[in-house]
Amino acid sequence: MAATLTERGGKWTISFTVEIAQSIPEPRAPERIIGIDVGITTLYTGATLNGEHVLDVENPRHYVRAEKKLAHAQRIASRRQGPKKGTAPSNRWKKANGRVQRTHAGIANARKNLINQTTSMLAKNYDVIVIEDLNVAGMVKNHCLAKHVADAAWGEFARQLEYKTQWYGSALVRVDRFYPSSKTCSQCGTVKATLSLDDRVYHCGTCGLTLGRDVNAAINLARQGLAGTNSGAGRGGEVRPAQQKLVATAHPDEASTETLTVVGA
Ligand SMILES: [Zn+2]
Repeated sequence: MAATLTERGGKWTISFTVEIAQSIPEPRAPERIIGIDVGITTLYTGATLNGEHVLDVENPRHYVRAEKKLAHAQRIASRRQGPKKGTAPSNRWKKANGRVQRTHAGIANARKNLINQTTSMLAKNYDVIVIEDLNVAGMVKNHCLAKHVADAAWGEFARQLEYKTQWYGSALVRVDRFYPSSKTCSQCGTVKATLSLDDRVYHCGTCGLTLGRDVNAAINLARQGLAGTNSGAGRGGEVRPAQQKLVATAHPDEASTETLTVVGA
């Protein structure tokens, strides 16, 4: 239907938009349920209903290194004569700017790749994927870089899960962001009044449970999701849009890893 040519950091990419008829698979029975907690050092922690810790996606260290490299390249470029009204940018600036663009593109691609692989694996292997319905717009106001990166990774993660679960017949359930997934004990249900962000281990004063904070939260989310799938709205309920909407959901950037653009049958 269309082709788009783009240049980024000296690399050229051509993406094609194609229309392929694909039948939407029947929704699967909600047997394999996974809750996903998102964080900063561990980007995605996944656990099942019975408390099995099945997914751990670390925020790769090389991202942090690459980001330092990017900041360094940006500082060099900023000291050189860039494009201004009436003056041409210097050759030294062009060279420095090229380095900035290439580093930028490298980081973006690596992150996109990680999110793509994780969301595909989840949508294929689990029937119900439960995530927190986080307020991304509010979080981006936070100026801490690591937090910003984690937020960006979360927004794209949720967006991809939304359409990939439709492709593979699984379901995405979003749990209300006010549900205290981190403060609740996954063993006895006691809710702590306070839990500091520094507490990496959840310890329950009532039943004695000691468990990684992220895993505890992920188990709680999985259980909340199960409750959601058994509600009157039916499995996945509001999160499964009508088939006709699907054509708009795939992004051209994913053409290299995702082969199909879904259209309504
Ligand atoms: Zn407890």
